[in-house]
Amino acid sequence: MAFEGLSEKLQNVMKKLSGRGKLSEADVKAAMREVRLALLEADVNYLVVKDFVKKVSERAVGGEVLSSLTPGQQVIKIVNEELTALMGKTQARINYASAPPTVIMLVGLQGAGKTTMAAKLGLNLKKQGKKPLIAACDVYRPAAIDQLKIVAEKAGVPVFEQGQGQPVKIAQGAKAECQRLLYDTLIIDTAGRLQIDQAMMDEVKAIRQAVGVHEVMLVLDAMTGQEAVNVASSFNEQVGVDSVILTKLDGDTRGGAALSLRAVTGKPIKFCGVGEKLEDFEPFYPDRMANRILG
Ligand code: GDP
Repeated sequence: MAFEGLSEKLQNVMKKLSGRGKLSEADVKAAMREVRLALLEADVNYLVVKDFVKKVSERAVGGEVLSSLTPGQQVIKIVNEELTALMGKTQARINYASAPPTVIMLVGLQGAGKTTMAAKLGLNLKKQGKKPLIAACDVYRPAAIDQLKIVAEKAGVPVFEQGQGQPVKIAQGAKAECQRLLYDTLIIDTAGRLQIDQAMMDEVKAIRQAVGVHEVMLVLDAMTGQEAVNVASSFNEQVGVDSVILTKLDGDTRGGAALSLRAVTGKPIKFCGVGEKLEDFEPFYPDRMANRILG
């Protein structure tokens, strides 16, 4: 399970709270100091932590919470609700175009898991009765196209490619193919770089303009924590991002990216990758994630 480190620490704090019959304001403050520390150690953005602890503290010491029969349970409920709110409250869905094809462009740094995600997303859409096509626009690494073809074939999703051709032309060609063969969703796999650079941003912008992208999905490696949040802010400022996909949640013991992204960037996390296999794909449910963390 993801976020073991954070989960264990928060569960310990919550256990202490629930084990006591009565709670004073000082007890809540002491617990919130531990919560704060646990979140910071999990690499959650410090402003997000500050705001989170403030909200929980205000709700916990105000109202009827401390004088209730089960103050510990009430505080835990508040922590759960605020964790859920932090991650976006409800599961966010794909913005489908009113007239197909819906064009989704996957962007992100090299190694984040874009190519794998293109196939995972395609498979998921297929299971929902959609007819997806993937455009191979990661043209700089010859191996990238082969890798995409292999995973897409496993997923049973067709790939539109023109070898090392021009990414904008390939995206346009793929969109025309959708119209010709009635594919209703086009997933564009773009080229990542090791770091954010102008050439990558310009290319993403050019594809976006040329084919009319409905949703720019930024693929981020959850294991990179705050670095993922910084990457998201840069992409959003320079290209404009509509939503986020978090990969490698299976290997993320801390949870800093998942807990900070929404609050820092304002963008919803729509899906996540939880392993290397095609089936290791889940819609991102903030409430289930909060429940998992608090055990
Ligand atoms: P790209 O460069 O962004 O296209 O990234 P790839 O799709 O090639 O993925 C990079 C590596 O991360 C590959 O070895 C994938 O198998 C692995 N990977 C992708 N998603 C996940 C995930 O959710 N969990 C784990 N554990 N590995 C993943």
